[in-house]
Amino acid sequence: MQVLLVDDSRTVIAVFGARLVALGYEVVAAENGQVAVERFQASAPDLVLMDIEMPVMGGFEAAQRIRAVEATQEWAWTPIIFLTASDTPENLVMAIEAGGDDFLAKSAPEPVLQAKMKAMTRIAALRAELSLANRKLEALASRDGLTGLFNRRHMDVRLDHQWAEAVTSGASFGLLMIDVDHFKKYNDRYGHLAGDDCLRAIASVLATTIDEANAGRLARDAFVARYGGEEFSIVLPRCSREAQAQVADVVLAAVSGLGIPHADSSGLGVVSLSMGGVHMPRAEGSLTPLFRQADANLYLAKKNGRNRVEMS
Ligand code: GH3
Ligand code: MG
Ligand code: MG
Ligand code: MG
Repeated sequence: MQVLLVDDSRTVIAVFGARLVALGYEVVAAENGQVAVERFQASAPDLVLMDIEMPVMGGFEAAQRIRAVEATQEWAWTPIIFLTASDTPENLVMAIEAGGDDFLAKSAPEPVLQAKMKAMTRIAALRAELSLANRKLEALASRDGLTGLFNRRHMDVRLDHQWAEAVTSGASFGLLMIDVDHFKKYNDRYGHLAGDDCLRAIASVLATTIDEANAGRLARDAFVARYGGEEFSIVLPRCSREAQAQVADVVLAAVSGLGIPHADSSGLGVVSLSMGGVHMPRAEGSLTPLFRQADANLYLAKKNGRNRVEMS
């Protein structure tokens, strides 16, 4: 547990700091509110113990700024305890109003300090747990259960956002709609469980390809999602047409290169994909025509023999 101890008096820092260390806390000190906010931003502590009156920036203003910093981060709430000279009702009311969780007299006897620290530590731990659980839930809600790829819901939200950004800045925008070839026959011959394994293997190839494209120079902020069933989408904002075509080729080659036997596929003997792509040099209008065009191109890729991409 790390405590940010804020006080303009060196004596208080030394004495209080020593008491906290003796109780097993790690102490980071700051000599006024401004330094405290900076330290908080650099590395958030588990608890803040802060004086009220200090030069440069007082405790109340610092608390408000810390709350403002926290508002930009999800689920964060660090207990702030004000250190007061005396425990008057006025001090308590002001401390709570300023965004503090409690207050503690600097002259508090050891058992009181221990009890308050124990209570605040418990709150801090609960909040940390809650925050972690929320993050896990959030992550789960955006993933597809079978493949681990982003799901349709996540795709829709992210796509809207990226599209709006591209329209505003007049950037290019690309979409690839992907469909597994003769997948019904695959299920019929090899069984639904093998079909699931196959989708997972394809998803893994897609994820790796997009990660590598983002890490290299082919794409930026591109992402892949399971659109539904045996269909996937790759969204490519600010990507050139050449780079998009290259991504499509890499995906096609990598999936057929998996060499998953498919006796009923069209000629190849292995599982393959068909893709319909659209690339707009300048994003404008709505997303609907983009999807319609990608679907039309996907239909064309199927008609032209599958295991290929058709782009416009
Ligand atoms: P085409 O080449 O024209 O795309 O033919 P297709 O057979 O792939 O197309 P169709 O749309 O007729 O069939 C899609 C199949 O994908 C049917 C469905 O059972 C299968 N499928 C969809 N989702 C899953 C899944 O999660 N697991 C498995 N194993 N199969 C799935
Ligand atoms: Mg002071
Ligand atoms: Mg389909
Ligand atoms: Mg299909």
